[in-house]
Formats: sequence, C-alpha cells, structure tokens
Amino acid sequence: MLAASRVDALLVSHLPNIHYLCGFTGSAGILAIRGDERGAKATLYADGRYTQQAAEEARDAKVVIARKSVLAEAGAGLLRAKAKVVGFETQLPFASYQQLDQMLRGKARLKPLPGAIEELRISKEAEEIEQIRASVVLAASLFQTALSAIRPGVAENVVAGEMELQARRAGAEKMSFDTIVAAGLRSALPHGRASSQAIPDTGFIILDWGVILAGYCSDMTRTVHAGHVSADHRRMYQAVLEAQMAAVAAVKPGATTGQVDQAARKVLEKAGYGAYFTHSTGHGVGLEVHESPRLAKGQKRRLAPGTVVTVEPGIYIPGEGGVRIEDMVLVTDSGGEVLTPTTKDLITV
Ligand code: ZN
Ligand code: ZN
Repeated sequence: MLAASRVDALLVSHLPNIHYLCGFTGSAGILAIRGDERGAKATLYADGRYTQQAAEEARDAKVVIARKSVLAEAGAGLLRAKAKVVGFETQLPFASYQQLDQMLRGKARLKPLPGAIEELRISKEAEEIEQIRASVVLAASLFQTALSAIRPGVAENVVAGEMELQARRAGAEKMSFDTIVAAGLRSALPHGRASSQAIPDTGFIILDWGVILAGYCSDMTRTVHAGHVSADHRRMYQAVLEAQMAAVAAVKPGATTGQVDQAARKVLEKAGYGAYFTHSTGHGVGLEVHESPRLAKGQKRRLAPGTVVTVEPGIYIPGEGGVRIEDMVLVTDSGGEVLTPTTKDLITV
C-alpha cells in the first residue's frame, strides 16, 4: 500500500484505523508504518497511560511509550528513518499537522492520503464478520426491551435508557451512537435523539440503535406505532417496507451502491413519497458505525463479497410523522444476507 501510494511512511492517527491495523484500542496514539524492500514495519506510539494496554493489545507493531507527545516522538522516528515522503490521514487535527510540518520541514514532504486505510476496511475478514454478527444479534435482542418499555406517557429517554442498560448487561461496551427514540410528530425528524418528550397515545415511534461488541458496531431501525393505525399510516409503512426490501434485494456483488439506493428510491417515488426520502439509503458498518461505502444517489462503487452495509430508507412528513426500517446486510458471493433477525411487520404498542 505504501508503494502504491508513493510514500515511504504513513502516519495513522484515526483511532479506528489504528485499532484495525494493530489491535490497539486506546483513546490516543499514532501508528507509523514504514516500508522498505523487506516489507512494512509498524511502530505504535502511545503515552504512559497505555504502557500495559499497548503491550497487551498491539500485534505486529513495536510499541514506543512516548515521553513527550506521541506526535513529536513519531516525527523524530521518521527523521531517524530518513523517510522522504510521509503520508498522513486527513483526520489529523490541523494543529498536529502544523507541528509535524515544522518538524519535517526541509527533510521530508507530507502527503495527504485520505481514506487509504478506510478502503482496506471495506472488505471484512471472516473473524470480523463473526464479530459483526454477534453485535447485530445483541442489538436485535434490545427490541424486546424497547417494546416492553414503550407505553403512552413514558419519556423517550426512559425507553432509550432501558435499552442501554440492557445492552450493558448483555455485554456491550456501549451503544454505537446515541439511541434514537422519536415518537409522534418527532418521528418526522430523521435523526431524533431520544428526548424528555412522552410517548403520545397515537403515532409512529422510530427506534434506531446499535451496540459496540468487541469493537464492532451494529445499527438497526424499527418503527412501531402507538394506538390506532390510520389507513394513511399503514400506506406509509408499507411503502417504506417495500422500498427497504427492494433495496435489500439489489445488494449483490457487482451492483453499484447507487443502484441499491435507486432501488429504494424508485419504490418511494412511485408511491408518491419520493420528496420525503431525504437521506441516503445506507452506509458501511464495522469498527465504526458509519464507514465506507456510502449507498447514495449516483454512487458508482461496486459492492464485493465481505462488505457489510445498512439498508435504511425512510420517509418523514412534517406535522405527520416518519417511518424508517434499517437492517444490516452482508454482501455474499451470490447476493446479500440480511444479518438483522428482527421482524419488519408493523407492531402496534
Ligand atoms: Zn441506524
Ligand atoms: Zn444507519
């Protein structure tokens, strides 16, 4: 990868990428990868808080516990190794970039390599897929917790809290993002984090959540309904369900991510809801809950076996409510395998 990117070394600063490459899960550190004719050599720079953790977790990397800043130590290492072109990730904070630029000035050139490691992460290895499956199963088990907690008058926050407590009890490290519980008119907010608002007597309730288990994220959405379901609401739900299933059916090796998006969009447009589908159809999931590839309009990337994506069309009608249904899907050799085991029938609470 270093040779293909025309760099002598790469400074990896984005923590999920460090985790991916060497197993270290600390909250600070830099992984420097240098290449020569014998292959790549990695050095993990961490600070004194991580002496034990780095030694335990880091594989295929030499560990250096930095006395000053990890960046200064990593920069000094590159100078000693006489690296001429140093790649860096564009998540590097600007202040860190400036510090590095000053250290290397006149001796090495910095070259941005956006998305280089993210590209490697798109195709999951068998062990990663097993971890993701376990994370999905744990997340799915929380749907029952949510259904038991949801009652008119109960705050959205309380429903989210019950799910999060149960997630911890079941072994999750934490949620993969702030749990979304958006009830009634708030269900028209595509990203309505759980609030202190009470669940109303009637209307849609969007639940969107996921957990991190052994480093790997899950992400799923179900929409349930409180009280009587009007014919309009039934039609909305049915349209999203059909769009979601059409997009899942479009997941296969060789299909572009834009084609999967289009499959969902076409169904919603035909049903008259096109204008209310205001986001993209999905995203990759792995060590991060949102990672490459993006399943969005016009995207040309082709899916390949081993990629895990979400498929999550939704419609949001201001003053009325919203519906979203989200599964995680593994691209297999012949198509797509839905990992999320949860029913998509409309459940009333
Ligand atoms: Zn989600
Ligand atoms: Zn998602």
